[in-house]
This record gives sequence, C-alpha cells and structure tokens, in this order.
Amino acid sequence: MSDELKWEAVTKRDAASDGKFLYGVITSGVYCRPSCPSRLPLRKNVRFYDDATSAERDGLRACRRCRPLDATMKDRLIERIRTVCRYIDDHAGERLTLASLSRRAHLSAFHFQRTFKDVVGITPKQYVEAARMRTLKSKLREGQSATDAGYDAGFGSGSRVYERVDTRLGMTPKQYREGGKGVAISYAVSETPLGVMMIGATDRGCASCSSTPPGTSCSSVSSSSIPRLRSRRWQTIATFSFRHG
Ligand SMILES: [Zn+2]
Repeated sequence: MSDELKWEAVTKRDAASDGKFLYGVITSGVYCRPSCPSRLPLRKNVRFYDDATSAERDGLRACRRCRPLDATMKDRLIERIRTVCRYIDDHAGERLTLASLSRRAHLSAFHFQRTFKDVVGITPKQYVEAARMRTLKSKLREGQSATDAGYDAGFGSGSRVYERVDTRLGMTPKQYREGGKGVAISYAVSETPLGVMMIGATDRGCASCSSTPPGTSCSSVSSSSIPRLRSRRWQTIATFSFRHG
C-alpha cells in the first residue's frame, strides 16, 4: 500500500484500512488508526507506520480516541479464535475440552468462552457440536455405518449417536445414510445476498440448513446430500436475518 493510498484512506477515515497501518502526527505526538474520528492533520505532519512499536520508537503515543493499542489486541484475539475454529474443524473427532481449547487460545476458560461467543456468535461447545455434525454427515454419505461414523465424528459410542443426533439430522443416522429414504421433509428456501439459503425440517427436527453461492437456482440446492426423500413441500420465505462479523 503506497503512502498516497494510505493518506487517501486517512482522509476518508476508512475503517477497512484499520489494522493495515497506523499514522502518526508529529505536531500532536500521537498515532492513530486510519478510521480515527479526530480532526484531519495536515499531510506534511503525517508519518505512516506498520505497527505501534515503530510509532512509539519515533516518540509518539497512542491516541486516546481511536485507541490503536486496544484495537491491535482485539485483532490478535480474533486471530487466535479463528485458529481455534480451524483446529476444531480439523479435529472434530477428538476429545475437545473447554480447558484444552482455551489453552490453545492462550486464554483463561472464562475469557476464551466469552471472546469466542463475541467473535463467532455461538459458544465453543455449539461450534464443536456443529463440526461433529458436519463430519458425521460426510462419513455417513461416504457409506460408513452409523456407529463408525459417529465414532469418527467424536460422538462416542453408537447408542449415544442415536440419542443426540436424531433431532439434528431430522432422521436417524441410518436413514440419513440411506439418503433419507422414506423420510418426508419440508423445505424453506430464500434467495439472499449470500446465495440461496435452505432450511429443511422433518417431524424429528431440523434436517439441514445450508447455503450455496449466489447464482445457484433453488431447485439445484434441494438434496445433493439427502437424495432419496419421499416428499417435499416447497415454500419461499421472504427474509432471513444474518449476524455479520
Ligand atoms: Zn486517533
């Protein structure tokens, strides 16, 4: 990013540039994030920095309005939580305790749980459960037995799979493995900026919830994962609300 572009970002108070660089104002002695709401300094008094350390080496201090140090901490926390999410995705079948996940994020269990919920929108436990469901579904689709798939997905013994996942699959693992043969399901589909969103439910529970890239037609979403459903009732819902960030 050239100094010219950085200056342009500063003049626009561009929040999307936060985290990419900092700017220091030599006359006031402070350094700021690009989005700082403070009065725009004169270009000739501005220096750009990659990080807080190099700004402070130049004798500048952190601005009290945009708090560049807090923001850096926050970015680091988000990155740590993302790393843990990727770890969970890759190790869904293993024993994942709150203590071990918190250690991985270098946070106390309490702080980890709260930060995780802030960043991801669900608790670590819910995230682990969702990762296990994804693994279970893909193993079942590959043709594994319900017991083996449940074990590989980290659900423990076969009977526990049946206890816990029926409502999440909307059917028994065995029925899911057989492509939903004989199971009636209702779908609701909506075109959204994120693509086609679909929720499928049976009388046992929510069978699926998925999205496809923008441009995909509603009918093609139907059931690549559950190909042998007995009947479908289509319905379009007007709006979905999403939680961003
Ligand atoms: Zn500032």
